[in-house]
Amino acid sequence: MEQTKVALLGLGLMGSGMAGRLLDAGYALSIWNRNPDKTQALAGRGARVAKSPREAAAGAAVVISMLADVPVCRDVWLGRGEALVDAVPGTVLVESSTVTVEWIEELNRAAKEHGCELVDAPVTGSKAQANGGQLLFLAGGQASTLHKINPILKSMGRDVVHVGPIGSGARLKLINNFLSGSQAAALAEALSLIERSGLDREKALGVLTEGAPGSPLVKLLSGRMTQRQYEPQFLLRLMAKDLRYAVSEAEHQDLDLDMGRAALRVFEHAISAGLGDDDMSAVVEQFRVRAGSAR
Ligand code: NAP
Repeated sequence: MEQTKVALLGLGLMGSGMAGRLLDAGYALSIWNRNPDKTQALAGRGARVAKSPREAAAGAAVVISMLADVPVCRDVWLGRGEALVDAVPGTVLVESSTVTVEWIEELNRAAKEHGCELVDAPVTGSKAQANGGQLLFLAGGQASTLHKINPILKSMGRDVVHVGPIGSGARLKLINNFLSGSQAAALAEALSLIERSGLDREKALGVLTEGAPGSPLVKLLSGRMTQRQYEPQFLLRLMAKDLRYAVSEAEHQDLDLDMGRAALRVFEHAISAGLGDDDMSAVVEQFRVRAGSAR
């Protein structure tokens, strides 16, 4: 049986793991990344390395993007990357990056002009889940299109939730990260308050993480924050990007996300303090650096 040809654009923390799972599942995979160094290990496992997004996407039945943000996605799909130029009609495009609903709508129009179909399928889970094929895909688009790519998504994830029409996956992902980012920012402040006020940190965190505030994220991040484990799993600056997109999405719905704006301010302060390329758990460091001075 002929292998389905899949292209993956973007081999960052998430895309690299996803590419590995596609190879494990036996798909004929072409890959592209701005920094070609990240293609080497995957090439050694059988991936075809393309020199451009256009070359990667040409002849693929399914093209998946896992890139940083909207300007990068636009440049890769419709700008200098020309990923759509040689895509054959009927190709299914999958936007898995965390992006705005407006961008999904723009890409959907471009997809239709080329006779292609788009699914927005951002993910929950982080680097470890990408490596282990345990992502959760939040998909927006037509059921018939999603049906075609379900086995491909399942090879990278534990499940696929069909949220609704095109853009629904992006919208829910932004709401997900609004809640996650708000929790992370609040935890950073709570932990700093514990540390500055001289409470026994382990006892205090035990109470919080085992009690009502102890969400899975709070449990995970409190460990990383206390141990200062900032090796990137999810870049701090990308969480700020998601909060910005969530605040903007709420504005489109005539809603002011006060909590989202507050969390965004905390993340932006962290970026100003030079922490943008650390893991999001480093958001706590700004308070430690500033200990003794009012913010
Ligand atoms: P990452 O490690 O920073 O990777 C970003 C990717 O975008 C890399 O392939 C990078 O290429 C590419 N890129 C950045 N700027 C570019 C530019 N100007 N031109 C071309 N390519 C560019 O990020 P990630 O963690 O894999 O995240 C990818 C997407 O998934 C983001 O939208 C993020 O919000 C979302 N996401 C992340 C997580 C997580 O836990 N990490 C979880 C869920 C969703 P280079 O390698 O050349 O820099």
